[in-house]
Amino acid sequence: MKRVCSSESLAEIGHYRNVLEQAGIACVVRNEQLCGALGEIPFLDCLPELWVLRDEDLAIAGGLIERQRETIAAAPWRCRCCAEPNDGQFALCWSCGAADDERC
Ligand SMILES: [Zn+2]
Repeated sequence: MKRVCSSESLAEIGHYRNVLEQAGIACVVRNEQLCGALGEIPFLDCLPELWVLRDEDLAIAGGLIERQRETIAAAPWRCRCCAEPNDGQFALCWSCGAADDERC
């Protein structure tokens, strides 16, 4: 077993698990139950983690997730106020300054 990645977002980890499973890579999610209530465990040890069962899948799994992260980060969006297209790295519309989930 090898750890591929961790994230503060369980939804994000679940998405990556789907991506790997669709690619035929056996994987498991660890720390699915957030253990923040315990207090004694450092927060970083509690993050949801994605692991591949076969060590030899690590490289390809890492590549797939890297591509997913880039896609998520760079997905373009269209402003709901002025309908201008915006690049994914911008949180605010370049044209009118509205946030990407804002309505006018
Ligand atoms: Zn706009």
